[in-house]
Amino acid sequence: MNEAWGDWRWQLRNAVRSLAELERAVALTDDERAGCVETAEIFRLGITPYYLSLIDKAHPFCPVRMQAIPVKAEARVRAGELRDPLGEERFRPVEAIVHKYPDRVLFLAVDSCSVYCRHCTRRRITAGGEAELSRAALKEGVEYVRTHPEVRDVLISGGDPLMLADSRLGELLAALRAIPHVEMIRIGTRVPVCLPMRVDEALAKLLRSFAPLFVVTHFNHPKEITSEARAACERLVDHGVPVENQAVLMRRVNSSARIIKELSHACLKMRVRPYYLHQMDVAEGCEHFRTPLAEGVKILEQLRGHTTGLAVPHLAVDLPGGGGKVTLQPDYVVERGEGQTVLRSYKGERYVYPEPKETDCVCPYDEVWAQRGA
Ligand code: SF4
Repeated sequence: MNEAWGDWRWQLRNAVRSLAELERAVALTDDERAGCVETAEIFRLGITPYYLSLIDKAHPFCPVRMQAIPVKAEARVRAGELRDPLGEERFRPVEAIVHKYPDRVLFLAVDSCSVYCRHCTRRRITAGGEAELSRAALKEGVEYVRTHPEVRDVLISGGDPLMLADSRLGELLAALRAIPHVEMIRIGTRVPVCLPMRVDEALAKLLRSFAPLFVVTHFNHPKEITSEARAACERLVDHGVPVENQAVLMRRVNSSARIIKELSHACLKMRVRPYYLHQMDVAEGCEHFRTPLAEGVKILEQLRGHTTGLAVPHLAVDLPGGGGKVTLQPDYVVERGEGQTVLRSYKGERYVYPEPKETDCVCPYDEVWAQRGA
């Protein structure tokens, strides 16, 4: 390992960005070679030396490899797949903002990433087709938030916001934090996974200074939780920045209860909360990664009750076309009867829950509480 290895800018400067460079590092399969050629005009290739070093060079189904190296299937668009699978463009009042839910917005701060994930569902932005968001666009985004008092939560994403230099990121965070109705800020980033050296003391301190601020990261397989990744997450948490994980369920990458359980345990050990397990979106070129909906529910069923509740993520489906997220879970209700409900335990045993006689659930004090300070 050379001296510059721990320098995140060196990692970016030396990222593999072409088939020729990739061939020098990994003996590619025919499918991967063709994948690189056929997706060249569709989506960027980019792998940091760090993330590349995690690839099992001897196994074409290495989960890191599958997330970083394209295959032919990625170049194909299947029926039902969408360029904008979450219907975000309909809710994009200004260039930097997606405002789909009542009290929160997505702030698209940048269109580049440290590694270009082959399963990226926001590739219409990360493909680089859009111009890099200008200062004017960012200002316009901040202004939108300022003039919408219902927005109490801003999720900064893109692309990967931690690709911004500290000064630029600090400017954006300061502008958002200065808006009185913004209660919390979240940053969606894959940097702890693909470029953990970016999370240095200075960055952790910067993020902490804008609390409450949550980092939402994206580990998909326990193989990605290395000592470097662990140090990055722990540095954030040690500085008072909570970190949550959103994994994407991907066929043959992590589509097994054993892997998801190990991933959750590894996250908790570094104080990262497993938050969501996302059903793969219907993004163009991603069908080979998609699992049947029932598979995720099956995985959840093998976790719930069998391990710590904190280790069981929410299984979320972002509805194609822009309906927003819904969560799925196994159905534990066996029968709803008069005065009682029959449920099954995680072991499949039946239990009776006697329903109460009183059903009025209005909280009488709530009128007083809701009026406080009014
Ligand atoms: S880091 Fe996120 S936005 Fe960037 S390519 Fe990966 S999934 Fe897409």
